[in-house]
Amino acid sequence: MKRLIATLCLLVTAAGIASGQTQVEPDMALQMLNAQQQQFEKGVVKVADNVYTAIGFHGANTTMIVGTDGVIIVDTLFGPTSAAQAADAFRQYSDKPVKAIIYTHSHGDHIGGASAFVGEEKPDIYGTETFGSAEGVNNAVDPVKAKRNVRQFGRNLSSSEMTNRGVAPAGTEDSDRGKGFLPPTVTVPSSGLKTTIAGVDIEFHIGPGETDDAMFIWLPKAKVLLAGDNFYSSFPNLYAIRGTAYRDVLNWSESVGKMAALEPHVVIPGHTMPIQGQEAATTALQDYSEAIRSVYDQTVRGINAGKGPDQLAHEVKLPKHLREKPYLIEFYGTVPHAVRAIYSGLLGWYDGNPTTLSPMEPRLKARKIAELAGGTQKLTERMNAALAEQDYQWALELSDHVKWLDDGDKELARKVKIEALRGLAAREYNAPNRNYYLSYANELESGALSDLWF
Ligand SMILES: [Zn+2]
Repeated sequence: MKRLIATLCLLVTAAGIASGQTQVEPDMALQMLNAQQQQFEKGVVKVADNVYTAIGFHGANTTMIVGTDGVIIVDTLFGPTSAAQAADAFRQYSDKPVKAIIYTHSHGDHIGGASAFVGEEKPDIYGTETFGSAEGVNNAVDPVKAKRNVRQFGRNLSSSEMTNRGVAPAGTEDSDRGKGFLPPTVTVPSSGLKTTIAGVDIEFHIGPGETDDAMFIWLPKAKVLLAGDNFYSSFPNLYAIRGTAYRDVLNWSESVGKMAALEPHVVIPGHTMPIQGQEAATTALQDYSEAIRSVYDQTVRGINAGKGPDQLAHEVKLPKHLREKPYLIEFYGTVPHAVRAIYSGLLGWYDGNPTTLSPMEPRLKARKIAELAGGTQKLTERMNAALAEQDYQWALELSDHVKWLDDGDKELARKVKIEALRGLAAREYNAPNRNYYLSYANELESGALSDLWF
């Protein structure tokens, strides 16, 4: 793991990464994603005398805490197939019965495999009072969320296009999603809970962050902290491009700050490798809390100075001393997406500029842009030139205008968009962005989006 961290730091330095820009040379993007891959290589890590974490059996981690007359399982993966493999791997270390299952939060990759850990016994199953409120988005938009989820995680990509999901491996077994879910039987109150299970002292701390229903688990004797998804090795996904309600960023920073205050000797993230050693674990949590808070504070300052999200998304940066921390590289979340989420979470969609109170209908705007360019032919030439110059974002924006024009070459615009998306993807080390670009390009190419393009 030390080697991985050293490699990542070297890559970051070599790439001269400015936070908020996740585009580098194609070779560098692949090297970085390959290095990050080591964060979720399949295996069981012993993190303390009685604590074992299984990584890479599915997207998330699952942990076994061994007590005197039984074990406790924290988080249960996505479905019973992957969970059964993790349970088998755990049995090499203990075959004691499962006394309790704990869900750190209700995201599907943490709760769907519980049945695979349980035999004849009926363990207590712990969740917070608000368990199940993870998404908070009206399910009226589930159809489009499902499509965007496939793109974000690159579920339909070919093996040559697949890299990983930023904090999780690609190509997971997903057909049994949620089939092993067992509902909570014990509610952790909003004030938290301290108890003893199978002879192990254990504390449940309410810690909203990635979800409102999240908690973190503290083992005071071993000084082991189980962070759930409020911490993993990547800049946090303060917004998910698959579509989410506002994730309360301030709560998230505060929850991670509370974890840091415990000065753990080990932090076990919801995804990626545990961080061991009091100094390393505590510093990582302090940095993480500070990074989130800094992005929030900078955004709020910008908002109050009258700036809109487009400007702020380019201006807000991680503080210099945090930029090269391996656990804050933007493999999963990104700073600009976080800024936009904070903006709309606090103020809604309107950026305060009266120009945007009633913007032009896209077809009309495309016509005016074409006129400005000297006609549709000239606009099309500029679009082609942008692609040839590898100015991919501009090529995308121009292709979107061309496709709206009655006299525009829609087929050409579509081809330009596909190539520009693949050009951006090749340089992208943020996994959700990369997966989304590639998936969308494939959908455009297959004709699946020919009517809509959104
Ligand atoms: Zn997760």
